Amino acid sequence: MMLWLTDEQAQIIARHAQADSPNEACGVIGGVGSRVYEIIPTRNVAANPQHHYRIDEQDMTNALFKLQKAELSIIGFYHSHPAGDFRPSLTDIEQAYYPDTAYMIVGMGDGTPRMAAWRIKNHEITPVEIHVGFQPPNASMEMTPLSKAQKTAIFVSAALAFIFMLVLSLSLLPPAPAIP
Ligand SMILES: [Zn+2]
Repeated sequence: MMLWLTDEQAQIIARHAQADSPNEACGVIGGVGSRVYEIIPTRNVAANPQHHYRIDEQDMTNALFKLQKAELSIIGFYHSHPAGDFRPSLTDIEQAYYPDTAYMIVGMGDGTPRMAAWRIKNHEITPVEIHVGFQPPNASMEMTPLSKAQKTAIFVSAALAFIFMLVLSLSLLPPAPAIP
């Protein structure tokens, strides 16, 4: 699973997060497969919007209609942690009702919006790779002529870096909540 956004789409999310701070900002991510086509900001109607988010039902319905019209589907949701980082909170894990979508979280605790995406299924969290840019993932490698050995070396180091990031982010996760 992956999320592929343009710079502009990533900026819409970051700006929404900054504009709504200290409240959590939330929205719907529409697209096809891993390709994002629509970022739809929604209202956060949680009783305590500084620490939780709940997408306004009318906004959610409108988003669904808009996406359906464009023959897109919901491939993810985003929300911000104005004073925290990009890891899912226990509430995020408990209230992840769409196991086949990506949950993008913007952590703004250190002043700069930092994004990560997660798949949350049955209280299990898996990192979702985020690719930002107009070029499709891996296009930069196809554009520059490289020898086969170079390509292999780049692929191996990229794979190692990704695995290392996974291990790091997983080891930083809070302990899994007990399933009632
Ligand atoms: Zn959260």
